[in-house]
Amino acid sequence: MSANGEYQTSYDPPKDLQAQAHVNSLDEYKRMYDQSLKDPEAFWGKIAEDFYWKKKWDVIEKHNIDTSKGPVSIEWFLGAQTNLAYNAVDRHVEAGMGDRVAFFWEGNDVDQSRTVTYKQLQDQVCQVANFLLSKGVKKGSDVTIYLPMIPELPATMLACARIGAVHSVVFAGFSAESLAGRIEDSRPSVVVTTSGVKRGAKPIELKKIVDEALALPGTDSVTTVLVYDHSIALPRNKVAFTEGRDVWWQDVVPGQPTEAPIEWVDAEHPSFKLYTSGSTGKPKGVLHTTAGYMVGAATTFKYVFDHRASDVYWCTADCGWITGHSYVTYGPLFNAASQVVFEGVPTYPDAGRCWDIVDKYNVSLFYTAPTAIRSLMAAGDEFVTRSKRSSLRVLGTVGEPINPEAWRWYNEVVGGGRAAIVDTWWQTETGAHMITPLPGAIPAKPGSATLPFFGVEPAILDESGKEVEGPGQGYLVVKRSWPSMLRTIAGDHARFEQTYFNVYKGYYFTGDGARRDEDGYIWILGRVDDVINVSGHRIGTAEVESALVGHHLCAEAAVVPVEHAIKGQVIYAFVTLYGDATYPPPEETRKALIAQVRKAIGPIATPDVIHWAPSLPKTRSGKIMRRILRKIASREEDQLGDISTLADPSVVETLLSLRGK
Ligand code: ATP
Ligand code: MG
Repeated sequence: MSANGEYQTSYDPPKDLQAQAHVNSLDEYKRMYDQSLKDPEAFWGKIAEDFYWKKKWDVIEKHNIDTSKGPVSIEWFLGAQTNLAYNAVDRHVEAGMGDRVAFFWEGNDVDQSRTVTYKQLQDQVCQVANFLLSKGVKKGSDVTIYLPMIPELPATMLACARIGAVHSVVFAGFSAESLAGRIEDSRPSVVVTTSGVKRGAKPIELKKIVDEALALPGTDSVTTVLVYDHSIALPRNKVAFTEGRDVWWQDVVPGQPTEAPIEWVDAEHPSFKLYTSGSTGKPKGVLHTTAGYMVGAATTFKYVFDHRASDVYWCTADCGWITGHSYVTYGPLFNAASQVVFEGVPTYPDAGRCWDIVDKYNVSLFYTAPTAIRSLMAAGDEFVTRSKRSSLRVLGTVGEPINPEAWRWYNEVVGGGRAAIVDTWWQTETGAHMITPLPGAIPAKPGSATLPFFGVEPAILDESGKEVEGPGQGYLVVKRSWPSMLRTIAGDHARFEQTYFNVYKGYYFTGDGARRDEDGYIWILGRVDDVINVSGHRIGTAEVESALVGHHLCAEAAVVPVEHAIKGQVIYAFVTLYGDATYPPPEETRKALIAQVRKAIGPIATPDVIHWAPSLPKTRSGKIMRRILRKIASREEDQLGDISTLADPSVVETLLSLRGK
C-alpha cells in the first residue's frame, strides 16, 4: 500500500506516448480545461465543427439544474439538426474510408471471427433500417434490442438512430422478467434478438427467453420479433417460431436495399433509453438525446484513449451497458476507429484469451473493468506473460473503484510498464467520461480517477451542502451541465429531478463519495450509502477494500456499514480468497487480513466482521451488489428486494450458509 511508502504513488505519462499525444502536457490540459469552463461556446463550438450538421446550431447550451428556479431542463446545440448514424458511418464512407475495418469480430470460440468494413456496416445499417421502416417503426418509435455481442448489435442500434427510432438495449442474458419489465416501460413494436449465444462454455437460449418475456403481461405492444440465426451457437431448427410475429433476420434483412433514408433530427431528439446497473436499487431508465451525446462520446473517446487512425481499439464491455453504447457503438465509430468486438468472456477457453486477442489484432487501446482485472490477476501471471502485448499503449478501466494492487498489476504485468492507465469515472447518467486522466498529459496515481474532463466542473460537498475547498472529502456533485448528460428518466421527470437535483439545490448529485487530495486529484470512495461512519470517522468502503485486497491471500473484498448502538456504524467485510481456498479458512487468515487493514489505514478501520464469500453477488456487468450485502450484514435477508439483475442468485444462499463461520 502507498500508506507505508513502499510503492510508487505517481506515474508520469509514458514518454513515447506523450511525444505524439493530442494533449501532451499538464499545462496544455489545464489551458484547455480552463477554456472549456470559461468559454464553453468557443470550446464546444470548435469541436462540433468536426461533425456533420444538416443544420447548424443557434445556441450552444442552455440549462436549468436548480429545482428552486423551476423544472430541470438541459439543452445543447439548440436549433441544430443532425443524425448519429450518419456521423458514425456514412460520413467516413463518403470521405473515402469505406474499406477501413470497423469491427474485427471475435466470437466466443477461438476459431470464430469475421471483419466488417465501414462500407459493409453502412449497407447493413441501411438494410436493417429498411426492414424496421417496413414494420412501421418511425421517428420516435421504441425498439428493444436483446442481442449478444455480434456486429449486428451495433448495426441495429445505428439503424434505429438512422431513422430516428429510440433504441433500448437490454443485456442479452437478463431474465425474461427483466426483459419484460423493460419492454413494458418502453412499449416497442419490434424486438430484435438471436436464436441463442454461447458465453464461455454456457449456451443461452435467447429466443426462448424472449418468448417467455412476451408471454408476460404488459408486453402486448410487440408485434414483430426479428431473430438473427446465430447458427454457430444455436441453429434455427432448434428454436420455437411464432408464425406472423417472428421473422428470421437472414430471410428478411439481406434482401433489403443498401440505401435508406436518413431522418435528420433535432439536437434534443431522444436517441436511446438505457437502464442503470441496479447496484443501488431498481434500475433507472436513463434517457439520452442526440447532439450533445454525440459530441461528448466522440470527444472523450478521442482524448481519453488518445485515439489515432493507426490504432486498434478494444472495449470488453457489452452494448447492454452504457460503456458499450458510448465506447463500442458510438464514440469509436464517430472517430472512424477500427475495433475488436468480442462475444465471449475473458476466461474462456482460459484466462489468457484477452491477451491472445490483443496479439492477434495488435490492439493498442484496451478498456475493461476492475472485476475482470481482478479475476485475471487471480488466475496467475503465466496467462498474461505467454503473449507479447507489445502493441498496447493505453489501458482503461471503468465501473468500480480500482484498488491500487490491481492497478499496479494492470500496469506492470499487462502493460509491461509501457502503457498509460486511464481510470475513468463516469455513469450511465453522464453518458461519457467525467473524471479521468488524459494519457499523455496527466500523471496517474493508482486508485485515483485524477482530474475532470473538459467542460466538467465537479465539486465536493460536506454534510451541510457547503463546497469543500482544497483537500477534503464528501459528496461528489457537478456544478453545471455537460453535453452528454442524461435529459430525464424515461416517463418519470419527477424521479429524475428527485434523484439527481433535489439532494443539493443547483448541483447534479452523483451518489458517489469522493476525496480531493493536495494536488487536486479526485479519489472515488464508493457509493455515498456505503461511506462508513465509525465513531465519527468517515471511512470509504473503497479504501478498506483496497487494503484487504493488498494482502496476498485476498482476491476480492466488499465492505458495507452495519448499524451499531455505540459506534454508530461498524465495518462488515465480505472476503473472497485466491484460488481454491476452503471456507472457512484457518483463523490466522482472518487475523492477517485484519492486521493488514490496521497497518494500511489505521485501527479505526478495523473490520468488525469478516464474512467469507466464495463469490460475491454481482450484477450482470460485474459490479458488486452492495445493497444485498448490506441486507445480509444487517440480518435483513428477508428484504433483499429486486435481485433480477444478479448474475448468479445462488451466491446469496452460499453467503448465508457461511455467516458466523
Ligand atoms: P444504479 O445507479 O442502478 O445503482 P450503477 O450506479 O451501478 O447502478 P452505472 O451507471 O453502470 O450503474 O455505474 C456508475 C457507478 O459506477 C458510479 O456512480 C460509480 O459508483 C461506479 N464507477 C464507475 N466508474 C468508476 C471508477 N472509475 N472509479 C470508481 N467508481 C466508478
Ligand atoms: Mg448509479
